[in-house]
Amino acid sequence: STQIQLAQRPHGWPTHDDFRTVTVEYGDLDAGQVRVVNEFVSVDPYMRGRMIDTRSYIPPFGLDETMTGGAVGRVVESTVEHLPVGTLVSHQFGWRDVVQEDASGFRALPEPPGGASSSVFLGVLGMTGLTAYVGLLDIARMQPGDTVFVSGAAGAVGTAVGQIARLKGAGRVIGSAGSAEKVTVLTERYGYDAAFDYKNAPVRKQLREAAPDGIDVYFDNVGGDHLEAALDSFNDGGRAALCGAIAQYNATSRTPGPSNIANIITRGLTLTGFTIGNHLDRAEAFNADMGTWFANGEVVYDETVVDGIENAVDAFLGLMRGENTGKMVVRIG
Ligand code: NDP
Repeated sequence: STQIQLAQRPHGWPTHDDFRTVTVEYGDLDAGQVRVVNEFVSVDPYMRGRMIDTRSYIPPFGLDETMTGGAVGRVVESTVEHLPVGTLVSHQFGWRDVVQEDASGFRALPEPPGGASSSVFLGVLGMTGLTAYVGLLDIARMQPGDTVFVSGAAGAVGTAVGQIARLKGAGRVIGSAGSAEKVTVLTERYGYDAAFDYKNAPVRKQLREAAPDGIDVYFDNVGGDHLEAALDSFNDGGRAALCGAIAQYNATSRTPGPSNIANIITRGLTLTGFTIGNHLDRAEAFNADMGTWFANGEVVYDETVVDGIENAVDAFLGLMRGENTGKMVVRIG
């Protein structure tokens, strides 16, 4: 098995020197174990946070240990009845092409619907989609007619947020992303009413132009200048779901916070942070809604696929630089 380990904790932007590729030979299966050949391995922004040793909602990655995280694969050898050879499974054993562990670490998946590839279970039908659904509907409590602003809108979570907003009756949906191509994708493929490239001009100015009547909901994937702009454009009683702050994940000094934080008070805003692990009870409602939308072709998705576990670090770095549209995944084999 080829596996990627964390060799040292990055300072600022991670580099290849922070990782190491190792080969692990697995022996025969012990009782209770299964062997799985991965089809797709997920790389996610939250992994940057786990690379440093700090108190968080999730413990840091261990040094000289294989990077863990979401993956889907197929059982190729099994000692347990409930996961026979050929079963598609999801697991958290992360950045490796083959994994052999106790069966309790794997969850059986159905075959992907509509001839999709199994990577959908890492994206729109998986934790990514659930994050969008919970953040928008439960945390920001979007109501029909609301004007919704989504940052990181062309990414995995963001593309799902925009579509769920529209399907749940949002009045106007506005997105920001980091290139002209992504802006076009947002309006033409994902049904955004307006979109802008945050690298072109101050977010505050572009958001005001895109939402002349203000915003009611902000789904924050970015933090920093995007959050400040949202605070500026909020109508009274506005609600934000603080999902991520990728603008500061690789910063080496404290990043400035919104200077207009007093708007939270004067406009009676609600900005609520969340981590999806505390909301897994919503998976059933998400699966029902998203399953229907997906089957009816009412949601679309994009993936940026990097081939080979040996390129997982490049996939992760590319994700942080915005080289992905939709979900970034590593394809194995
Ligand atoms: P994405 O697919 O959105 O990939 C990350 C994107 O971030 C890039 O494509 C890039 O797009 C954008 N980006 C990078 N740097 C900046 C910057 N300085 N300013 C603005 N945009 C930037 O990743 P995910 O959909 O997986 O995650 C999106 C966010 O949601 C992240 O912040 C993540 O941490 C968070 N998250 C939180 C969860 C929770 O439980 N709270 C669960 C899952 C994700 P561009 O080209 O537009 O710059």
